[in-house]
Amino acid sequence: MLNHTLEDWESKAAALNIRSRAFIGGKFVDAHSGRTFSSTNPATGEVLAVVAEGDAADIDAAVAAARAAFDDGRWAHLAPEDRKEVILKLAGLLRANLEELALLDSLDMGKVITDAVTIDVPGAASFFQWYAEAIDKVYGEVAPTGSGDLALVTRVPVGVVGAVVPWNFPLDMAAWKASAALAAGNSIVLKPAERSPLSALRLAELALEAGVPEGVFNVVPGFGPTAGKALGTHMNVDCLAFTGSTAVGKMFMQYSGQSNMKPVWPETGGKSPNLVFADCENLEAAADMAAFGIFFNQGEVCSANSRLLIERPIRDRFVEMMIKRAESAQPGNPLDPASRMGAIVDETQTMGIMEFVEAGKRSANLVTGGRRVTVNGKGCFVQPTIFDDVSPDNPLARDEIFGPILSVIPFDNEDEAITIANDTVYGLAASVWTDNLGRAIRVAENLHAGTVSVNTVDALSAVTPFGGMKQSGFGRDLSLHSFDKYTALKTTWIKYKP
Ligand code: NAD
Repeated sequence: MLNHTLEDWESKAAALNIRSRAFIGGKFVDAHSGRTFSSTNPATGEVLAVVAEGDAADIDAAVAAARAAFDDGRWAHLAPEDRKEVILKLAGLLRANLEELALLDSLDMGKVITDAVTIDVPGAASFFQWYAEAIDKVYGEVAPTGSGDLALVTRVPVGVVGAVVPWNFPLDMAAWKASAALAAGNSIVLKPAERSPLSALRLAELALEAGVPEGVFNVVPGFGPTAGKALGTHMNVDCLAFTGSTAVGKMFMQYSGQSNMKPVWPETGGKSPNLVFADCENLEAAADMAAFGIFFNQGEVCSANSRLLIERPIRDRFVEMMIKRAESAQPGNPLDPASRMGAIVDETQTMGIMEFVEAGKRSANLVTGGRRVTVNGKGCFVQPTIFDDVSPDNPLARDEIFGPILSVIPFDNEDEAITIANDTVYGLAASVWTDNLGRAIRVAENLHAGTVSVNTVDALSAVTPFGGMKQSGFGRDLSLHSFDKYTALKTTWIKYKP
C-alpha cells in the first residue's frame, strides 16, 4: 500500500462503508434522541458522515450494557490467557483492516495518509498485541504474614471504565485506553472526540469480531458537555481515563467529586521544550528531529516540541536549518502520499492557531510561514511557522497552540536553559541535545517532565509509561503501569490452622 497513488487513496476513500451509529451492547444503534451531527473532512470541507449524537441517555444505556457484561463475568472471569487470544486476534484484525482505519483517521481529522498507514494503525495494533501478551504474566503477591495467616494481594479489574479521548490521534488514543483496560478484564464505555469519532466505532466492531463479548466494549459518539459529562458524573462508572486538554481534565476531577469519587486519570496538555546545546555534534540530526517534533501531525501533538531553546552561539545557524526544513514541509492533500503535513482538524482550531500567529507577528520575529493556506482552493491548512526571539513570557512560549508553530528562545548557559524549560504549568515531555554525557544526565534530572528524550524527540514505546507532571496530568498510558489505572489491589486474608 506504500505504492498507492493519490488516485488509489481517493477511490478507496469513496468506497468506504463508514460506521456512524453508536456501538452499544454489541450493536450499532441510533442516539436515543434521534439527533445526529456531521463529521467533516477538514481538507475539503465535505461531510464525511452523519453521526449519532449520544447524550446522557445513550451513556446510561452503554454503562448498563457494560455493567451487565462485567457483572456476569463473560469477559472479566475468562482466564487471562483466553483474553490474550481474543485481543491478539483484534491486533491481527487491525492489521488486516489497516487501509480502512488509516483512511478513517486521515479523512476525519486531516492527518497525512502516510503517517496513518505507517505510524497510527500499526501503533494501535502493537499496543493491543503488547497488552495481550502482558496480561498472563502479571502476578499477584503473598504478604509476609506469620503462620496461620495467608494474605493474598491480587490485581482485580475495576469494573466499568469510562474513557474520553481527543481527536489528534483518534485510533491510537482509543487503543491506548482500550488495550490495557480490556486486557485487565474491564468493560469499557468510550467517548471519542466529536471531531473524529469514526475509527473508534470501527475499532469496537472489530473487537466484537475478534471475540470480545457483547457489551464489553461500547462507543458513544457525542459532545463533551453532554455525553462526556454524563460519563464523568455517572454513578456506575468505576474509573475514568481521560486524555485531552488541561481545562477539561480539571472538570473530570470535579465530576468525580460531584458523583461517586471514581478515580480519574487525566493525561492533558503540554508545552514541551527542546534544548539544543552548542556541544551537540550532529546538528543536522537535531534539526531534522526538531522539525519532526513540531510539524508532525500538523503540530497537533500533546508532547509537540513547541519551544526550541537554542544555545546562543549556534542560534543563527540552527534557525537557518529549521527554516529550510519548515519550507520543505508545506501542507498538502492528506491523501497524497507525497504530502508531509496535512490539514488542521477544523475551522475553529485553524482560527485559534491563526490568532496566536497574528499576535506573534506583533510580539516576536516571524522567520518563516505565518499564513493560512488552501490546497486545491479548499480546506483548513496552516504553513509550518517559526518565530524567533520569543520572550519566555510571550503567549507563544506559554500556551499550548496545538498547531505547526515553533517558538525559538535563545539561552546562554545550562542553568538558564533549565529555568526557561521548567517555566511552564505543563510537564509532559522535554528533549535535550548534547554530546556531553554529564550534561545530558544533569539536565534530564532537572527537567520537570514525564518523559525526557536525550538526542531524540518524543521517545515513546509500549514498554515505557507515557504521561505528565504538573498540569499535564498524572495518568500514565503504556507499559505495565497502565494496569495501575485499570486494576484495583485486593487483599484476601485467610486464617487457617497452622
Ligand atoms: P478537549 O479537552 O477539548 O477534549 C477531549 C475530550 O473531552 C473530547 O472527547 C471532548 O468531547 C471531551 N470534552 C470536552 N469538553 C468536555 C466537558 N465539558 N465535559 C466532558 N467532556 C468534555 O481536547 P481536544 O481538543 O480534543 O484535544 C487536544 C488536547 O488533548 C490538547 O490539550 C492535548 O495536549 C491533549 N492531549 C494529551 C495527550 C496526553 O497523552 N497527555 C495526548 C493527546 C492529546
